[in-house]
Amino acid sequence: MEASYPAQIFGPGLPATGRTGSLRLFPAGVEAILPDDSRRVAATLTELRLREVGFGQPGLELAWTAADGEWLIHVLDPASSAALRAQWPAAAVPGLQALQAHERRQRSRRRLGWSALALIALSPLLLVGLFWLQADRLAAWLAEQVPIAEETRLGRTTFAAMRGELSLIDEGPTYAALATLGQRLTAGSRYTYEFHVVADPTLNAFALPGGVVVVNTGLIAATSSAEELAGVLAHEVQHVELRHGTQTLIKGLGWQAVWMFATGDFSNTLAGQAALQLGRLKFSRDAERAADKQGFEALVRAGINPAGMPRFFATLARQDGTGAAPFLSTHPSSQDRQAALESMLAGLNGRPFSALALAPWPPTASHADQLQQ
Ligand SMILES: [Zn+2]
Repeated sequence: MEASYPAQIFGPGLPATGRTGSLRLFPAGVEAILPDDSRRVAATLTELRLREVGFGQPGLELAWTAADGEWLIHVLDPASSAALRAQWPAAAVPGLQALQAHERRQRSRRRLGWSALALIALSPLLLVGLFWLQADRLAAWLAEQVPIAEETRLGRTTFAAMRGELSLIDEGPTYAALATLGQRLTAGSRYTYEFHVVADPTLNAFALPGGVVVVNTGLIAATSSAEELAGVLAHEVQHVELRHGTQTLIKGLGWQAVWMFATGDFSNTLAGQAALQLGRLKFSRDAERAADKQGFEALVRAGINPAGMPRFFATLARQDGTGAAPFLSTHPSSQDRQAALESMLAGLNGRPFSALALAPWPPTASHADQLQQ
């Protein structure tokens, strides 16, 4: 392996614009030869630092520090630069490995850039075609592409913006009970959850993308056992796990939401404003059914009697029309959802569950109750 390539050579004693010479390659290193063989300088492979230079067609820069100073060789001719890269086993030159990794990243970034541009150019078509035909599936797919970290940021940012209007009681027995149940229902999740109790007599609970779950004291007071609260929690947690909030946001805002997630800018934009509505979002019937089913299964997995879930939904249904339960406006009670839960319960064939050790219920003598009065 001995080849020679045209090169521009920069180094001690040479003009600032360099001299045109040639580069020879040996298995263990390189040698730069100045015109008319006036001077030769050599470096070993391990001394070399490689960098990509040039515009359009990428050239290669080889640099090293010699006893007399810094030497730089530019190989800009594309064929020579390509041949040069092919000459060395990548493992032999630390710089070449890094360079190749960098180039792979650049290439995939360029590919991604082009697909994004193509998507934007096609977006009217996509919006008309896909959003009408397959809005749910497209939104679900797009929501799956949103990194967990971005969903988490969205949820935390949204909650930070709304918490001023909420009187949180994140301490005391009521909060402890909620947090205990929440931890049991979210063990092993890819999300990091936080649970909050709000002093509010109305029956409500909601979940924000990324794992913020909020429950009103009014709802907790309306449950007749810890299992019933666990049922509501399990349902809300599944809205997070199944990314329903993120999907609904994407469905409602289209590319604005995609842009919001891509840039991570949840503030000062229309999308950011809409994100604030997350706690009042109404999900599709399919989403509600899925949250019921997976919530039920999560309860069983956690060893919590899932009978509390349909029982509390039945209690809620009795509040329908009274206006006391905002939960019902986002979760309309329906016969078929109730029936589906009852049939899942029947499918357990009377499997025994030990009662949750959270008696007396609802948690009493708490800061929560004092605040509520
Ligand atoms: Zn729901």
